[in-house]
Amino acid sequence: MREFELIRRFFDRGPARKAVLGIGDDCALVDAGEATLAVSTDMLVEGRHFFADMDPASLGHKALAVNLSDLAAMGAEPLGFTLAMALPRADQAWLQAFSQGLFALADRSGCELVGGDTTQGPLNLSLTVFGRLPRGVALRRDGAQPGDDLWVSGELGGAAHAVRRRYAAMAAAQGLDGRTLAGPDGGVSAQALRTGFPADVPALALARLERPEPRLALGMALRHLASSAIDLSDGLLGDLGHLCERSRCGAQLRVERVPLCPGLEGLDARERLSLALTGGDDYELCFTAAPENRPRIRRIGQELGLALTVVGQIDAGDRISLVDEDDRPVAFEGRAHEHFA
Ligand code: ADP
Ligand code: MG
Repeated sequence: MREFELIRRFFDRGPARKAVLGIGDDCALVDAGEATLAVSTDMLVEGRHFFADMDPASLGHKALAVNLSDLAAMGAEPLGFTLAMALPRADQAWLQAFSQGLFALADRSGCELVGGDTTQGPLNLSLTVFGRLPRGVALRRDGAQPGDDLWVSGELGGAAHAVRRRYAAMAAAQGLDGRTLAGPDGGVSAQALRTGFPADVPALALARLERPEPRLALGMALRHLASSAIDLSDGLLGDLGHLCERSRCGAQLRVERVPLCPGLEGLDARERLSLALTGGDDYELCFTAAPENRPRIRRIGQELGLALTVVGQIDAGDRISLVDEDDRPVAFEGRAHEHFA
């Protein structure tokens, strides 16, 4: 059973009764009087979401960043977060660096640590973030309309490229399962870990993997302009699929317009396409907006110094069609990342 089927079958009990919005979006929305509260939880597991030798300051940053990214996708303003962690041991140097990376992002995002839980166990970081929105303005996955432009922020594929290159290097050092960070025995051997990231991985791609930037200012700026939004954690094709499913629409994706992380131009065309469409871990925003909002959205991109690109259109169909600049269909086999897949 795949991840989303599992959630649907055992945990999704239909439309939320007390919440404004329950399971199925980047955040849950809860009515809190004047405002709406946006809540999201994301867990990072060693060997699954990050390599065991990841620099602890970057890990602190990333653990919060992936959670803040869900607030960004709803257009919410961060308020606070809780931190539940299982740690194999109380390593003070590690904790010092981890907390420094965590709080550097927390402070500049206006997101305060307000509680949590600490236990001994295999390294696991589970954060819950809380954000705020004026009532009725949240960017949800279900608001896309046929005729809307389809946008993405930033550039895609860098994080996935770094991970893929490292797998390849590790597999060369020792036979390892290519899909997860763990080997067949559930752990990555010290020898395989020492292999590290190959020297030819562009620094920018590595930075995208280890220091993703949650697009909070963009999300908030899009509140009255975008019709729907989702953050890109599992790859554009899969995440756009969730958006289309929730909005009951289709999309035409102009694959050549999908902006790719600088430094990846030299890869072969198939690999570039695969990174652009199924490379996960980018934490950029994918959103839709009426074409008349284009000038205002472009201005937001300029103000934020962030690339915002129209990569296609929403249509009334029920599938995502991939096309080139001459409207010819583009063949693509790959799939988005799913746990248990
Ligand atoms: P995201 O990538 O935005 O964090 P996910 O793809 O992880 O979202 O999850 C999809 C939806 O399923 C979200 O609304 C999430 O809150 C919900 N979800 C995931 N796991 C569970 C669970 N065990 N119980 C209830 N809801 C869950
Ligand atoms: Mg999300």
